[in-house]
Amino acid sequence: MIIDLRSDTLTKPTPGMLDAILSAKTGDDVFKEDPTVNELERRFAEKFGMETALYFPTGSMSNQAAIKLHTQPGDQLICDKWAHVYNFEAGGAAFNSGVTCNLLDGDRGMITAAAIEEAISPISNYHTPNTTLVCLENTTNKGGGACYDFNEIKNVRKVCDDYDLGLHLDGARLMNAIVAKKEDPKEYGKVFDSISICLSKGMGSPIGTVLLGNNDLMKRAIRIRKVFGGAMRQIGFMAAAGLYALDNQVERLAEDHKKAAEIATVLNKQSYIENVEPTETNIVIFNLIDELPLDKFINDMNEKNVKFSNMGQGKLRMVTHLDYSQEMHDRLLEILSSYQ
Ligand SMILES: *Cc1c(COP(=O)(O)O)cnc(C)c1O
Repeated sequence: MIIDLRSDTLTKPTPGMLDAILSAKTGDDVFKEDPTVNELERRFAEKFGMETALYFPTGSMSNQAAIKLHTQPGDQLICDKWAHVYNFEAGGAAFNSGVTCNLLDGDRGMITAAAIEEAISPISNYHTPNTTLVCLENTTNKGGGACYDFNEIKNVRKVCDDYDLGLHLDGARLMNAIVAKKEDPKEYGKVFDSISICLSKGMGSPIGTVLLGNNDLMKRAIRIRKVFGGAMRQIGFMAAAGLYALDNQVERLAEDHKKAAEIATVLNKQSYIENVEPTETNIVIFNLIDELPLDKFINDMNEKNVKFSNMGQGKLRMVTHLDYSQEMHDRLLEILSSYQ
């Protein structure tokens, strides 16, 4: 039994999802004639109370399209120093949009309205880059699955309104936040100009991300998706997996959260652990005491068939997911408790 907690992207389609894939009705989505893609886009737009959704192959492409939509070359976007759009999209903001990132020193990947307001370039100053976009991440990835307080998101919206900035949400794991905090997706639809949601993380589809926005924005988004090489043909086979995930694999995220919280509790009791970050969703981030070398711990765990990721700066990360069973969970807790 291999316990693989490197990422929630490692899941394989469940039997029900495979059936949905095999029986999908498809057409050419470049002609907008794939009924399953159209249905997926309609359902997501409806769920979030937004006008239009567009299916993308990946979350990075969807985020990058959003950055392109909201900015002009030479502009600046504001995000947290750990943001995926800055750290893990291969410099795409610079490459695709000619945009610099003003990185804020947030709390577990979350930034405040006050810090954003302070970071905006003065409009009258033509020496500084023009700030045009704010990107938030919810839940945060490198920040350990932390969830924003929705009131703070509303404060950020107000700053964006006051300074005429676009507001994009990298919601790769937004469903985790919505389930964990029992939020209404439509509240998100009201405050963000664009939202990107991955179907390939906790929701368990093999691929896919949806980008949401109003009709005008999304009319431009489809063109940018084409420029990025992301217009696909009979992709309804994969959209069917996304629809299946939306109907069957969202509420169960609460199980992943429960298991992650239990891992955090067990880790917190171990003498070889220095710190476990607050665990709100399906990501557990922890540090070892100085006396235990990182490599030794990682090797010892690999020998016991336990895999997880090294995030750098001494941070280790375990992510719970659909394919992490109760049996694996019980075994992991045993391994962590008896390790010395
Ligand atoms: C995974 C992830 C993405 C998108 O990643 P892809 O691998 O390109 O689908 C974007 N933002 C965050 C926070 C993520 O965790």
